[in-house]
Amino acid sequence: MRPKLVVGNWKMNGSRANNATLLAGIVEGLGNGKANAAVCVPAPYLQQCADTLAGSKLAWGAQDVSIHASGAYTGEVAASMLVDFACRYVIVGHSERRAYHGETDQQVAQKALAALNAGLTPIVCVGETLAQREAEQTNAVVGKQLSAVLELLDGDAVERIVVAYEPVWAIGTGKTATPAMAQEVHAQLRGQLRERSAGAAEKVAILYGGSMKPDNAQELMSQADIDGGLIGGAALKAADFLAIIHAA
Ligand code: 13P
Repeated sequence: MRPKLVVGNWKMNGSRANNATLLAGIVEGLGNGKANAAVCVPAPYLQQCADTLAGSKLAWGAQDVSIHASGAYTGEVAASMLVDFACRYVIVGHSERRAYHGETDQQVAQKALAALNAGLTPIVCVGETLAQREAEQTNAVVGKQLSAVLELLDGDAVERIVVAYEPVWAIGTGKTATPAMAQEVHAQLRGQLRERSAGAAEKVAILYGGSMKPDNAQELMSQADIDGGLIGGAALKAADFLAIIHAA
């Protein structure tokens, strides 16, 4: 059995003062739950996470990483820098970065590789838009997004990624994929991992993201191939985030 994983994606939200309350609330409520939990915060708050979460059961990470190791790339953050702040995870290829920053499948794959090379766990996001779903292109779109990553990674490296299926039409909209709809895509992604290696199919966690809330989390995460959640809005309230973690 793969352990469940629940990750909060704070997106561009937070302040030193609010983070302090939110992080303390989450840590306090984690208890002895069996699910793994993490928060992916804006880069300026990684030090705050390192200071307040070290030694706790809540891991932390970033929301993007450069494909480059260092050099003249103004505004970029290297994977080695995230390691300096003791990050465990980094989200790559979130649909907001694909849409607003033009990230391609190949760049997302390079980001996953950069993260792995530094010892981080990349959370590789895939997902279709509403137009793509209505045109019955979901399987082709997410298949191509994952393929780009699988093609770039050598051998066992694939076993160290996390995949997140986030249908774009479900993000921040209150519309969630039904558990059956999500499971169908997760099973396809798992099959794609299996074609690469049985070990990868067995080990890689595939998270669902897109309006996951306390009231739908348990049903989604009880599907055979849904190993946890990538949570946006509901990760900004300790009580909601904890309820999702405890439902996992
Ligand atoms: P919401 O949970 O706010 O829909 O966001 C999901 C998401 O994009 C997580 O990465």
